[in-house]
Amino acid sequence: MRIVAAAIAVLSALCACGLEGAERRGVAGERSLVIGVKADQPGLGLKGRNGYEGFDVDVATYIAGRLGVPRSRIRFTTTNSSVREKALASGEVDMVVATYSITPKRKTQVTFAGPYYIAHQDTLVRGDDLGVRNVRDLRGRRICEVTGSNSWRRVIEERNVAARRVAAPTYAACMGDLAGGRLDAVSTDDLILAGFAAGRDVRIVNAPFTDEKYGVGLRKGDLEGCAEVNRAITRMYQDGTAERLLNKWFGRSGLKLTTSVPQFEGCS
Ligand code: GLU
Repeated sequence: MRIVAAAIAVLSALCACGLEGAERRGVAGERSLVIGVKADQPGLGLKGRNGYEGFDVDVATYIAGRLGVPRSRIRFTTTNSSVREKALASGEVDMVVATYSITPKRKTQVTFAGPYYIAHQDTLVRGDDLGVRNVRDLRGRRICEVTGSNSWRRVIEERNVAARRVAAPTYAACMGDLAGGRLDAVSTDDLILAGFAAGRDVRIVNAPFTDEKYGVGLRKGDLEGCAEVNRAITRMYQDGTAERLLNKWFGRSGLKLTTSVPQFEGCS
C-alpha cells in the first residue's frame, strides 16, 4: 500500500502539474518505508554501530529513492530468513531486500519485484578440508539448515544429496558452528559466502550449482508497487549504480559479477 502511494507521489512530483501535484508532493514528503534486511551477513546486510550496511541495504535505499522516499524516511529492520513472509503479510515491513530468492513456493505468499541480482549457490568448508569439491561431496556431511532459508533444500531435496542437517537461526550462526566443528559445510549463495570468507580460514569450493534470483519482496498482490520497483531496478542498472554497488561490496571477492539487468520474473 505504502509503496503504491509513494510511487503515485513520485509520478505526480515529476509532472509539476499545478496545485494537485503540489499537494501530493506535500504528502510525499511524509511518506516513509520500513524495509526488512539481514543484520549479520557481511557485504549484504550487516548491522553495525552506524546502522545497516551492505549491497542489499544500498539497493533498497536506491529503490526507495526512486519511489520518492529519501534515506531519512527509511527505517531498516532485521528480517531473518524465518520471518520474511510473515513480516510482509502482517505489514510489519513494506519491503524485504534480504538475499531473498524468488521461488515458486514463496511466490504463492509474496509478490516479488526483480530479480535485482542473480546469485549462485556454492559451498564453504574449513580451510583444511580438501574433501569437498562439489555439492555431491556433501553426502553424509553435516550442513547448515537455516530456518526459513531455501539453501539446504537445494542440496537435499533438489539435488538429492543425503547430507545431514544441523539447524541454525542465521548464516552467521552457521559460520560459528563451522568454526566450532559442529558442522562440516555451509552451502548457500555465493555472495553470502564471499562476505563471510573474507579474513577467515575457510575455502569456497567454487562449484556453483543454482541460480538464486534475488527478489524485492512486497505484500502479496501489490502489483503496482512491483512494477514501480522493477522500473527502479532497470534504472539502477542503466545509470551505472548496480555496477558501482556490486564493485563496492564484492569487487575484492574474486566473484564474477554480472552487471547487466537481470531478466525480470514478472509481477504476480
Ligand atoms: N537466497 C536463499 C534464500 O532465500 C538463501 C539466503 C537466505 O536465506 O537469505 O533462501
